[in-house]
Amino acid sequence: MSGASPDSAAGGRARSAPLMGRDTEPTLFELSAPGRTSWQLRTTGVPEWAADELVPAGHRRQEPVALAEVSERDLVGHFTRLSHRQFSVDLGAYPLGSCTMKYNPKVCDTVAGLPGLAGVHPAAPVSTIQGWLALVVELEEVLCAVTGMAAATFQPAAGAAGELTGLLLMRAYHDSRGESRRRVLIPDSAHGTNPASVTLGGYEVTTIPSDERGCVDMEALRGALDTDVAGIMLTNPNTLGLFEEDIEAIADAVHQVGGLLYYDGANLNAILGVVRPGDMGFDVVHLNLHKTFATPHGGGGPGAGPVAVSERLVEFLPGPRPARLASRHEPEGPAAAEGAASEAAAPVDRYGWVVPARSIGRVHSWHGNALVLARALAYIRVHGGDGLRRVAERAVLNANWLRVRLSGTYDVPFDRPCMHEVVLAASSLKRQTGLRALDVAKRLLEEGFHAPTVYFPLVVDEALMVEPTETESPQTLLALAEALERIAAEAAEEDGLAVAHAAPRTTPVGRVDEARAARTLVPTFDSRK
Ligand SMILES: *Cc1c(COP(=O)(O)O)cnc(C)c1O
Repeated sequence: MSGASPDSAAGGRARSAPLMGRDTEPTLFELSAPGRTSWQLRTTGVPEWAADELVPAGHRRQEPVALAEVSERDLVGHFTRLSHRQFSVDLGAYPLGSCTMKYNPKVCDTVAGLPGLAGVHPAAPVSTIQGWLALVVELEEVLCAVTGMAAATFQPAAGAAGELTGLLLMRAYHDSRGESRRRVLIPDSAHGTNPASVTLGGYEVTTIPSDERGCVDMEALRGALDTDVAGIMLTNPNTLGLFEEDIEAIADAVHQVGGLLYYDGANLNAILGVVRPGDMGFDVVHLNLHKTFATPHGGGGPGAGPVAVSERLVEFLPGPRPARLASRHEPEGPAAAEGAASEAAAPVDRYGWVVPARSIGRVHSWHGNALVLARALAYIRVHGGDGLRRVAERAVLNANWLRVRLSGTYDVPFDRPCMHEVVLAASSLKRQTGLRALDVAKRLLEEGFHAPTVYFPLVVDEALMVEPTETESPQTLLALAEALERIAAEAAEEDGLAVAHAAPRTTPVGRVDEARAARTLVPTFDSRK
């Protein structure tokens, strides 16, 4: 490797001490020095080829790609320093509602790192990847048992990709019946990806308001239903953290006009082993394995948004999909060694790829993010059925403990038992002291907790959406509640609001301009320097 030279950080920007506190970390482009590399291949015996011999001139770039040129030392230092400056699920509680940021057991990473799983090329011949195919088929069976559905695809690489897949499945179903329907219903409390997916899937969104109890307004729903409705996308428990009380009536009403029910199961934490979308009447469910089943997420990491469907949609699923083809009886033990058939032959499953009869085709190259699937199966096997149910029970208990403890200090717009998350609000605090949900979130960072989700769901004024998850202990929940109480009390003191407005004061960066990144799409540094 190119060793770290004394002027390692380019342009005299070298720093001897690790960059902590509020020092700015240079970008990789600022660390770049022309000709510096992180690799050397001097000792290989591979003959050099001229570029002309490999790629015809017409297909080659005229200008080199504008990439940062850095040594391995600079690169590792840069990312290690950055990794010390961020908050993570391994560092502390991360009560970010709607996104389930729970601690992910390390054993799942160990499994995903096994060379027999991690080192396999997705195009490897079927005979050499029987174990991988068996893993995916087993995961499909388990998730179908958890959701009450008939079959699943693992191609979608995230929740939103699963939503689009589900909508394309709905369309294929209606098309197969010679029906063209144009509208999909979505409650106003839905996750933002739902309407986006509906639009991308070529449908129109009809928004259904929530009633005063935070559930789908049944009268509005009935009013919006006709034979132009392809289906409804629902989250249950909904995005207010509440279980839809009329779920059976909703399912009946939608099915009555020939529509399908889509379940946004991005967060299954509240219902694992307790209730199943299939039993509630749903036809399509997507799950976010990267939220509920042990793959760390956020920051654009790999995900998996498998889509499980009821019997009538199986023939439309994306393909090819792994399947158990047959069980074959193979001789075992000494008999096998002698090549003789044996009475004691054990059944051995054979796996392969199948393409469903009226498949919508591929929705992802290869087979999605396969190692996320390995983590999910490890997580499920480690927990077992009773363990998964305990996940749900504890997630719900933790959220309700916070709801009861904090009501009085914060508003609880829907004060009845919640599911895995509780929506609080800072409306009264804002009225009385000027403290807003955003201030609470920023102050909480100073207390060593990640901020909850704020200003979502949109139907709640000054919303603070708190999802403690099952992985936090009673001690941590108490500390979180006390921090939230301290922040509220402080706001009433003299200068209290000024303190809150200055927060966060202890993090690597203070308050940032929340909108600038979305508005200034052109980077302000010169990547060619
Ligand atoms: C996170 C989430 C999604 C989107 O999932 P991605 O993997 O981020 O695409 C959809 N619906 C709900 C309810 C979610 O919480």
